[in-house]
Amino acid sequence: MHLRIDEAAELELELEPELELELEMENGDVKPARSSVEASAMAASYNDQIRPLLDAVDRLRQLNVSQEGIQLPTIVVVGDQSSGKSSVLESLAGISLPRGHGICTRVPLVMRLQDGDDPRLQVEYGNGTVVPVASEAEVADAIEAATAEIAGSGKGISEAPITLLVRKKGVPDLTLVDLPGITRVPVQGQPEDIYDQIAGIIRAYIAPKESIILNVLSATVDFPTCESIRMSQQVDRTGERTLAVVTKADKAPEGLLEKVTVDDVHIGLGYVCVRNRVGDETYEEARAAEAALFAEHPLLSRIDKSMAGIPTLARRLTQIQASIIARCLPDIVKQINDKLGRSSDELGQMPPDLATVADAVREFYHIVKKARASLEKVLVRGEFDEHPDDRRLHGTARIAEMLACYASKLPALCPASGEPFLVEEMRVLEETKGINLPNFLPRSALLVLLRKKLESVAHVPHDLVAQVWGYVEELVMGILQRHSRSYPQVQPSCRRAVQSLMDKARARSTQHVKELIDMELVADYTANPDYTMKWNNTMKDDGHGVFLRAVEDPCRLPTVDLPGYGETDVSHLRAHPRLASQAFDLRARLDAYWSCVVLRLVDGLALHILYSVKHLVEKDLEEELADQVVGSNMDGVERMLVPTPATAAKRDRLRKSISLLRECRELVANTMDKINAAATDRL
Ligand code: GDP
Ligand code: MG
Repeated sequence: MHLRIDEAAELELELEPELELELEMENGDVKPARSSVEASAMAASYNDQIRPLLDAVDRLRQLNVSQEGIQLPTIVVVGDQSSGKSSVLESLAGISLPRGHGICTRVPLVMRLQDGDDPRLQVEYGNGTVVPVASEAEVADAIEAATAEIAGSGKGISEAPITLLVRKKGVPDLTLVDLPGITRVPVQGQPEDIYDQIAGIIRAYIAPKESIILNVLSATVDFPTCESIRMSQQVDRTGERTLAVVTKADKAPEGLLEKVTVDDVHIGLGYVCVRNRVGDETYEEARAAEAALFAEHPLLSRIDKSMAGIPTLARRLTQIQASIIARCLPDIVKQINDKLGRSSDELGQMPPDLATVADAVREFYHIVKKARASLEKVLVRGEFDEHPDDRRLHGTARIAEMLACYASKLPALCPASGEPFLVEEMRVLEETKGINLPNFLPRSALLVLLRKKLESVAHVPHDLVAQVWGYVEELVMGILQRHSRSYPQVQPSCRRAVQSLMDKARARSTQHVKELIDMELVADYTANPDYTMKWNNTMKDDGHGVFLRAVEDPCRLPTVDLPGYGETDVSHLRAHPRLASQAFDLRARLDAYWSCVVLRLVDGLALHILYSVKHLVEKDLEEELADQVVGSNMDGVERMLVPTPATAAKRDRLRKSISLLRECRELVANTMDKINAAATDRL
């Protein structure tokens, strides 16, 4: 059954009003129930409601849910060394714990006290070691033995807890954690950083807001000087979850009443003064002595009964414990569900466990498919929903920028030689002249010049191709790597595949550029009407006419303003007016034709690049990857079958966490079922 959060919340509402009555009754001595019927009803409701909850929380503690970051409501006993922590626990449990000088409690001790008719004593530690303890006299030894096993036999400490279960008639139903006492100066044989170690353990237990701090203070000391007060104030400034137990009331009765009423150390939950077992007293003798002390002592008898004695302390603690459990439970249920959801999601997102080569092949093609889909988006269709903010990955836009930059690098006018106007053209005409009519322009003159001009810009398309493929390679590599990151084993093969693919693409494009240029040299041809229009414009009277008149008439100024060429000196052409006229015509054709050539170079290469990228993404990539990774003998995919240690460890951790959380959820749900069933029975 799944426990819903609102169910747990309901439980809290049901519990709280009844709590006071039941608990007071439980200890009998304060306010007896008005009738025996009432009393047994309350006892029944206590057993039906509170006990199962305590058990559930104790069981969660045993399951160690705190390792999942879920904090349990816990009463934590803190106090300076020899303040009497262990003695207080002894008094509550009615048994002997290791006591002595120096540091006795070296590991956290979880004391589970259970009121029950079937007495039982046992020590639990490590991963499920359970040691039954035959008699109360042996408890101290059993704890010491377990401590030695966990923290060594020296004076070292450890954060791994020991659980002591004490079930006997009359003990309060309580679970408390006793922590190593705070010691300022290491004693011989203790590590130098003992203070930090202990402080670290204590802080881990008292910091969660679910913890109640039971601060044990000796009546013999000045409270504000206590280290344990300083520490608990660090995590609970207002003291709202701190309860003080003042021990050794018998040793320092003077001024005790003032100390606990003035409250200059901010204890929100109040003080309880006690007298523990002294020397070899039995438990019963100690209780009797304590009762007598607070009843008869001239100073101590003035302390209010609600602030004195172990029975009062037991009652206060059971009360506090029940209310923190009821308060925290809904949140615990929520945390368990949240954690479970998160761990399951995380596990679901991990790559599947591959068992056979067929699994691996299927998974591999799945990766390829995803990579291909991403690449189609960024390189073909220009969709950037996967990486809206990473401009490097916006492939189509970046390639368009490269193409625009390429077009601007190709000169709009046919590049000139740097010699005076038309000198180059005249030289070429001289060398290509034939035996023919003088007013025919030799076609080879145009081709010779065109070849020269084309060669001077041939590096520009080659540079573009290199730039585009460099970019595409990086992009494809990145996206493929991202999709295959769960299988680092195949990444080297993928990298090789991309490299070999890119080498081929580059070679094809280089060949294409070479062909584009070579084709331009096969013939001077264009169907573009711009050519004739431009040539006609230059050859009109305000162009060719003005030019001719300046060359032929030595009386005119040697510089003329020619459309398209600007202020031009023609004095050097006056010696060869006929050749200059032809050269002007040749130059006009070359310029008009050049813009057609540039257009072809830009458009042709742009289409080639778009086509090649599309082809690469939609076809070549898949084939090349299949060749490299699947290959003929499947050795690439076989590598996928062996998970990397990191993946295996993560999967393992998540599985363990999920099964633990499921167990916890089940446990809480069953407890609620039990409580609800009991409530129905009573109606
Ligand atoms: P811990 O180090 O905080 O666990 O302190 P212990 O419980 O070991 O107590 C330190 C010493 O104080 C022991 O010798 C106890 O017998 C003694 N002690 C503890 N509580 C009382 C008390 O209420 N009255 C007297 N007279 N001695 C106490
Ligand atoms: Mg101790």
